[in-house]
Amino acid sequence: MKTVRLDRLLGNLGYGSRREIAMLARYGRIWLDGAALRDSGAKIALDAAAGLEVDREKLDPLPGLTLMMHKPVGVTCSHKEAGPLVYGLLPERWRRRDPAISSVGRLDKDTSGLLLLTDDGALLHRIISPKTEIAKTYRATLARDLSGAEAALFASGTLLLEGEANPVLPARLDVLGPREALLTLVEGRYHQARRMFAAAGNHVEALHRERIGGLALPPDLAPGEWIVLSQDEIDAAL
Ligand code: URA
Repeated sequence: MKTVRLDRLLGNLGYGSRREIAMLARYGRIWLDGAALRDSGAKIALDAAAGLEVDREKLDPLPGLTLMMHKPVGVTCSHKEAGPLVYGLLPERWRRRDPAISSVGRLDKDTSGLLLLTDDGALLHRIISPKTEIAKTYRATLARDLSGAEAALFASGTLLLEGEANPVLPARLDVLGPREALLTLVEGRYHQARRMFAAAGNHVEALHRERIGGLALPPDLAPGEWIVLSQDEIDAAL
């Protein structure tokens, strides 16, 4: 049975320093199965840790946490840049977790839609690896009417983006209206969707990611909201 010291577990979940957690325990603010745990050095079975409570609230999710967020326009996928960040949409304590939660790849500041965040490094690398080729679908709203030639051009595997030597992999375009289309990519080059439409003589006015692999953004998940994904949901979709 795998065990972990209480102060280490809570420290890695952002509840405070070792000293602060010792104080929480001493004042009877940490509970397990209906009894106060007053020794912050106690060994807790990992299986039992989900039953912990701090200040009468269920413990935050244990490491191995993956979220699906509806990223709003105007927030940045970065730990470093100034301005509103996607991490600012998460509970304050979650920003102090170790391992840290990171976005799985990035969406531009001006792009909205499905963003995965995880503390699982192996999952992150698997999804963003060029070898995995997980499909990502974007809804693009365009400045000009589509010409009708774009789907064949994008599917051809010959389209060169400005400044790049290698053509993009074949991509699928489903036209929804004169200025609206779904673009499905299996790569994640810098500003790829916007640059593909630019290479076809158009301009993307709004971009929204609807799907990653078998995961679709739920229609009732409002911009800025997020949900925790179960391991079964991840395994089935990615
Ligand atoms: N393509 C873009 O141009 N921007 C994104 O955020 C994602 C894909």
